[in-house]
Amino acid sequence: MRIDTKIEEVAVNLLRQSAVKLPEDVKKALKNAYKNERTHIGKIQLKTILKNIEIAEKTNTPMCQDTGLIFFYLEAGSQFKNLEKIERLLCKAVQRATKEIPLRPNTVDPFMDKNTEDNVGKLIPYIHWKITEGDFLKITAFPKGGGSENACALKMMRPGDGLKAVKQFVVESVIKAGGMPCPPTIIGVGIGGGSNIAMELAKQALLKPLDELNPNVEVSKIERELYEIVNKTRIGPMGLGGDTTTLAVKVEYAYRHVASYPVAVAFQCWAARRATAIIHADGKIEYITHPT
Ligand code: SF4
Repeated sequence: MRIDTKIEEVAVNLLRQSAVKLPEDVKKALKNAYKNERTHIGKIQLKTILKNIEIAEKTNTPMCQDTGLIFFYLEAGSQFKNLEKIERLLCKAVQRATKEIPLRPNTVDPFMDKNTEDNVGKLIPYIHWKITEGDFLKITAFPKGGGSENACALKMMRPGDGLKAVKQFVVESVIKAGGMPCPPTIIGVGIGGGSNIAMELAKQALLKPLDELNPNVEVSKIERELYEIVNKTRIGPMGLGGDTTTLAVKVEYAYRHVASYPVAVAFQCWAARRATAIIHADGKIEYITHPT
């Protein structure tokens, strides 16, 4: 198979895998949440979510009617051939996946209110590049649901407000969001940089494996503290009350301007879909989140 055909094929597979089957760490977190949930209503919601996930896997159909706006996160070795063709190939893969899986057409011209019907439009799929050394291509497909996206929040704090105010803003954002992002959520917090960097970091935090501890002990403590406070809000599964509002809080940060302190909060719903694969220079394909 030619390498460009291979890239398109892998991208279609990743879109299917992410739409149909949650990564193991998310499934494990949802199962644990079900086991630990003490309220009747919360348990019913989590049981239904787990049943939904099981049916989607068995029938090879998307786990939610909202199959998301498509984001790709790429890590590419600078020696990987065909780098210039990748964006076009990913757009083609999204068009194919929309028909074949199928995915709900979710991409709309904001001025004309016209749906492109194939999930491709200006800057969509959104493609985030990171160029590193080597000759491989790592692709992560990240379909993002509208409900959780609508809850995202950004605040430009005053530097003097400090960490206490950061935590307060995260918790206020969770309370304001209520059931809208289809809890139990994963909460990504981006701190520092500029406004765009903070939100980008918050989004990238949503891609981190749930069972992986933050290597920075101080940040890990903040994640744990926020996780506990958020679950005390008792918003609960699907916003109907209960012990489980979030499965994990993940924090990423950048250094900030001396005069500003941006904080962004990004939400991911229980349908925390992501799928990653690596294409090696010799053509070998490694599926990371959904091994075959
Ligand atoms: S927020 Fe997530 S679970 Fe809720 S409808 Fe959207 S994609 Fe589905």
